[in-house]
Amino acid sequence: MAERTRIVLKSGKDQSLRRYHPWVFSGAIKKIHGPEREGDVVDIYDNKEEFLASGHYQKGSIAVRVLSFEPVETDQSFWDQKIGNAWKLREKLGLVGNRDTNVFRWVNAEGDGLPGLIVDYYGGTAVVQMHSIGMHHNLEAIVSSLKKSAGDRVHTIYNKSETTLSDKPGIKEKSGFLMGQQEQGEVLEYGFRFNVNWIQGQKTGFFIDQRENRKLVGEYAGGRKVLNMFGYTGGFSIYGMGGGAKLVHSVDSSGKAIDLTREHVEMNFPGDTRHKAYAVDAFGYFKEMDEAYDLMILDPPAFAKHQNVLNNALQGYKRLNQRAFEHIAPGGILFTFSCSQAVSRENFRKSVFVAAANAKRKVRILHQLSQPPDHPVSIYHLEGEYLKGLVMEVE
Ligand code: SAH
Repeated sequence: MAERTRIVLKSGKDQSLRRYHPWVFSGAIKKIHGPEREGDVVDIYDNKEEFLASGHYQKGSIAVRVLSFEPVETDQSFWDQKIGNAWKLREKLGLVGNRDTNVFRWVNAEGDGLPGLIVDYYGGTAVVQMHSIGMHHNLEAIVSSLKKSAGDRVHTIYNKSETTLSDKPGIKEKSGFLMGQQEQGEVLEYGFRFNVNWIQGQKTGFFIDQRENRKLVGEYAGGRKVLNMFGYTGGFSIYGMGGGAKLVHSVDSSGKAIDLTREHVEMNFPGDTRHKAYAVDAFGYFKEMDEAYDLMILDPPAFAKHQNVLNNALQGYKRLNQRAFEHIAPGGILFTFSCSQAVSRENFRKSVFVAAANAKRKVRILHQLSQPPDHPVSIYHLEGEYLKGLVMEVE
């Protein structure tokens, strides 16, 4: 094994690693022995020279992202095993070769033991998004493992890391194809058709993490008037229509997203007049609207990208949900979500609770929602459970 840089932790700072938490914060470091090269694999020791873990080093608040809690050589077989295991889990979940759903998350960073790496699968296309320099250095090995584990189930690999690595000095990442050339494609989710453009779309192209929650909306939609706020390309709207809604209105501030929503409605329900879409701001829409919706979905973008803007984010969730409680028809069902990693389930529920009280509505929680199993969460890394949702009945 090549000589690696050794990182020694301050006394007492070894505890979280002993509980398999996969991050080392810079403040926990006592001394670094050896070159400090970003993206290198380093070994971490406690202050009594006991080995704790190995991981990718990077400057910043998270200094090391752990790849292994045992001494390990990060050669091709390491990547083959990790990425192969991730693929096997999706097979176990019934997502590989599924006739109704061919879009899923293949690698979910810490949840698959690969902090800094996201891979989403769109019916034969793998979209790779790297969030760390260490992953960037290993792209070739990663791509080789992707091809090996999926075989002929992958025909296109697209690297979409230009924006996720843009703030890292010295890296001039360009997004681009690593295999094949397909720029967009039609995917199936529970039999519904969606056109996904991984080059131009948000994130890797589609919000795969809402699959099971969209299905639940379909189960509640029968006979209801549905408002899908922050609809993006209309995922929740399509399920609402499939579930027999009386009408469905989609709202998103992005005109492109609204165009795609209309396209998706036409693809799945040609000629159906129950749907309308509006490219406007959510708060503006609440102010102007005159329809008495009895099923609302609120799925805003992450209000808190960092811990230090947490309070503003909680205020944002409160304001938004209060508008919904003020407007929803008696007996209505409200689906509300937060995808901010910095906002805990507890804090999110508190914001929604204050919103309900301010609107003076009687509210009961029917479901507490999260992300689907192709977005697994390490039990030692609760930050990985970023998607939180509540389904409520409003009297
Ligand atoms: N529910 C979607 C994902 C939503 S992502 C799905 O299932 O696919 C969040 C969306 O909110 C983005 O499409 C973004 O364009 C939109 N958005 C952001 N700010 C907004 C605002 N102030 N008003 C309306 N939409 C907004």
